[in-house]
Amino acid sequence: MDITGGCICGKVKYTLKEMPVMMGNCHCLDCQKWTGCAYKPVCMFSNKTLKLEGEIRYYTKAADSGEMIHRGFCASCGGDVVTKCDQFVEYVMIGAGTLDQPSVYNPNIDFYTDSAQKWDCFLDHTHKFSRQIER
Ligand SMILES: [Zn+2]
Ligand SMILES: [Zn+2]
Repeated sequence: MDITGGCICGKVKYTLKEMPVMMGNCHCLDCQKWTGCAYKPVCMFSNKTLKLEGEIRYYTKAADSGEMIHRGFCASCGGDVVTKCDQFVEYVMIGAGTLDQPSVYNPNIDFYTDSAQKWDCFLDHTHKFSRQIER
């Protein structure tokens, strides 16, 4: 089954052919800034089958690990699409809300919970990491 999605204006589209290797909510301050929300729901996919169409620009900033994170957004509408990280070059991170079928998102972890806001909400069953995911 192909997994498809894209930005709010529809000019940037992505297709993936494998299910995510990880699904989890990132509560880091950068994801709060980027999304305007309490956390970013992140699907991590192998980038082997990633196909992108449309013009994407990247905003690059060092994470607290010191590794660079490249947040990709649509050049027309500014919508978040794909994030790449120097620490995990073989993967691409996609916000669950940009999926054409966001209901497939089923997070089992939360990370950077140390920076979560008081008004944030958590699912009971997820495994919580105070900072990065350990692997
Ligand atoms: Zn767009
Ligand atoms: Zn984050």
